[in-house]
Amino acid sequence: MSTVQGRLRIAVQKSGRLADRSLDLVRDAGLRVIKGNNDLLYRVENYPIDLLRVRDDDIPTFVADGVCDLGIVGENVLEEGKNGGTNAEVVMPLGFGRCTLKLAVPPTLDYAGPASLDGKRIATSYPRILRRYLDQQGVAADIVVMRGAVEVAPRLKLASAICDLVSTGATLEANGLDAKETVFESQAVLIRSPSGPEPALAHLLESIVERISGVVSSQGAKYVMLNAPRSALDQITAILPGAGSPTVMPLMGRDDAVAVHAVCQEAVFWETLEKLKAAGASAILVLPIEKMM
Ligand code: ATP
Ligand code: MG
Repeated sequence: MSTVQGRLRIAVQKSGRLADRSLDLVRDAGLRVIKGNNDLLYRVENYPIDLLRVRDDDIPTFVADGVCDLGIVGENVLEEGKNGGTNAEVVMPLGFGRCTLKLAVPPTLDYAGPASLDGKRIATSYPRILRRYLDQQGVAADIVVMRGAVEVAPRLKLASAICDLVSTGATLEANGLDAKETVFESQAVLIRSPSGPEPALAHLLESIVERISGVVSSQGAKYVMLNAPRSALDQITAILPGAGSPTVMPLMGRDDAVAVHAVCQEAVFWETLEKLKAAGASAILVLPIEKMM
């Protein structure tokens, strides 16, 4: 149960890689967030909702305990924090904060698969996820837990290998490490409390979840309109990326061609347009979608 009567709470990262995108997401869902002089709590002016701004490591616990009703956090943090007790429930992946937990080794280590790490020391900030992976691989390695700067461990002879989050790979490269195995794939997720809000707020909570889902699914989605020769209709609709069943309409004064309108869930590239054109489509328009439900 929320500690503050009459208000929902959403836990977001205060500062860091997920902070800006988390704030953008709740704003896109129609929440007018007011940055007050209270740094920990931002109020939402048009709904009884507060944003609790905390370290990302604290978010899963706050949501699991019902201190917050919703939270936005990396799957990696959620997975590492699982304690066998009550956990937050994942509502949906959010499509940002993508990164991969990877095993990386210096070129001096003779690496021929995870078994090469048997009996070695591996530095990581994610000991639980790494241990589970090593157990699955049947590798007995020692894990050295480091809070940060994991990538320097091999140079300092603290460990023979590391297991760290990678997005572009630039940090590994700068430290002369080669990524070898993928241990865990992560992105930001929306989580909710298993205990649920006070009854008066249940409806609001569902509507916020629904809106966030709408924002996420409209990201990158485009509305495509084009004219197509009837004879090429099947071919053209097959090219449209991630379109369900397009709307097909007659064109005035033309029996040989139709208008096609479709919501494309996946990115529409120039290459896609070129293919559509080659298949006989004309008057192709690609429009952004602002909201979707
Ligand atoms: P906090 O102060 O909130 O504890 P932090 O230092 O633990 O912040 P950040 O570095 O801001 O965390 O990263 C937050 C999350 O962003 C990570 O847990 C991960 O899910 C995601 N992320 C995306 N790309 C990367 C990356 N290249 N390295 C680390 N995390 C990344
Ligand atoms: Mg953290």
